[in-house]
Amino acid sequence: MTSLSGKTDIDWTAFATALAPVEVITEPVLIKKRSRDFFWYSPILNRELKRCFGDLVARPKSPEEMAHVLAVAYAHDAPIVMRGGGTGNYGQSVPMDGGLIIDTTAMDAVIEVGDGFVRAEAGTLMADINTSLQASGQEMAMFPSTQDIATVGGFVAGGSAGIGSIANGALRDPGNIVSLTAMSVEAQPQIRTFDGPEALQIHHAWGLNGVILDVTLRTVPRRDWVGCIVTFDTYEAAYRAGLAVAQAPDIARKLLTTVDARICTYFPKLKGHIRPEKHLLVSMIPIEDRAAFRALIEGHGGHVDLMLTDTERQAAGLPHVYDFSYNHTTLQVLKADRSATYQQVGCPIPPDPDAIAALRPKLGDDAWMHHEFARVGGEIVTFDLPVIWFSTPERLAEINATYTANGFPVYDAHTWNVEGGGLKADYVHLAWKKRMDPKGLLNAAKSRFWADVAHMTPDEIEALGQTGE
Ligand SMILES: Cc1cc2nc3c(=O)[nH]c(=O)nc-3n(C[C@H](O)[C@H](O)[C@H](O)COP(=O)(O)OP(=O)(O)OC[C@H]3O[C@@H](n4cnc5c(N)ncnc54)[C@H](O)[C@@H]3O)c2cc1C
Repeated sequence: MTSLSGKTDIDWTAFATALAPVEVITEPVLIKKRSRDFFWYSPILNRELKRCFGDLVARPKSPEEMAHVLAVAYAHDAPIVMRGGGTGNYGQSVPMDGGLIIDTTAMDAVIEVGDGFVRAEAGTLMADINTSLQASGQEMAMFPSTQDIATVGGFVAGGSAGIGSIANGALRDPGNIVSLTAMSVEAQPQIRTFDGPEALQIHHAWGLNGVILDVTLRTVPRRDWVGCIVTFDTYEAAYRAGLAVAQAPDIARKLLTTVDARICTYFPKLKGHIRPEKHLLVSMIPIEDRAAFRALIEGHGGHVDLMLTDTERQAAGLPHVYDFSYNHTTLQVLKADRSATYQQVGCPIPPDPDAIAALRPKLGDDAWMHHEFARVGGEIVTFDLPVIWFSTPERLAEINATYTANGFPVYDAHTWNVEGGGLKADYVHLAWKKRMDPKGLLNAAKSRFWADVAHMTPDEIEALGQTGE
């Protein structure tokens, strides 16, 4: 079999044979499908990544099969990219060097449900984990809005926060990732378990520094949530009310999202259910806090358009409220018009409605605000995932500069390197890569600095400090 990627000189037929009895996928059309994620959200990444393909897909179904796959890859010096549901946004699971794609979705067992934690194999869908928790009266502390197709391994290796983060923090906050088990890429792959702070080196490292076999995540007591959509005349009022709900002592919350009215014109499923041309506050609150929530919203000049239990929502044929939050907000727009894109922008801490109001007129008509409220390191924070109407890279740079100049840091969503997003800004994760993946086979193209340090020992790499990104 010749190399589909055109980037490797490995005999992929012999490689596939050596992988037996592990399931492999050799059809080019299926390999190409599994070489993509949601990088096309970014026109810049789309141009750079759309022609990057792997050469073969392996689908191990147990740690033993995974060890066999990794040992064969190690023997052939084959580039490896791990893949769960393939919902990452920055080409995280795109095989830029070609090579082997390891699809984890056959490793999908919930291993243990305990009091306050769940341990599941890397390929388990987040939604399946949430379902498995119901009988014990628990739910995930947070989950991505892609939970129906995203795996827990992909969430921990590629995600950061989600539905529940306004109550329980970001994934990286202490206690949320209890531990994880990872396998090294060596002649005889080793299994290592990492707790707390050590697990954070593998978290959001895009599968560069270890193959996650299973993850133990925090769970919280289950509550009956209602999905609410509330409308306001101004964006500032929606944001101010969101902040008030986030701070309210008598209202719990699992989701708080504000959406500019112009974005809402791309929500056809809500037509007739919400007041047109209004700014939204999208939220999930416990059923018992409904009256307090309504009183707070009306006190802020808002109107409660929808307040539904899950059963009522299904009967009304409406999507879940989190289909309008996180990167799903952008997706609703992209479904209608592929010239839209987005950005990831931090906001002043503590959240400042006046600063948001002052920034709006400076942004121009091609950047439409959408904020998520979360609790990070114990503090209430917001971040903007604006819908941006892409014209040129130069105009995008201008929009970024407007944000930064006004005190809103940009965590660029249009870069394919792991150091670019702001969470892996020192060399420590590459020292871990050296320990777990001495030949540098795992997704190495995604690190801007790996080639510079690959020849060093882990301790030498670690001593380098900040990457300067
Ligand atoms: C519409 C939309 C909404 C989203 N909402 C959210 C959100 O609310 N919160 C959020 O954090 N993200 C969100 N994301 C990003 C993404 O969906 C999540 O991060 C998701 O959890 C990724 O899971 P996945 O299984 O699809 O991972 P993949 O895309 O398959 O992989 C993600 C990264 O993890 C690596 N990886 C996968 N499995 C392993 C493993 N076993 N070992 C080591 N590395 C591995 C891959 O190589 C890749 O680098 C969203 C994306 C989209 C398109």
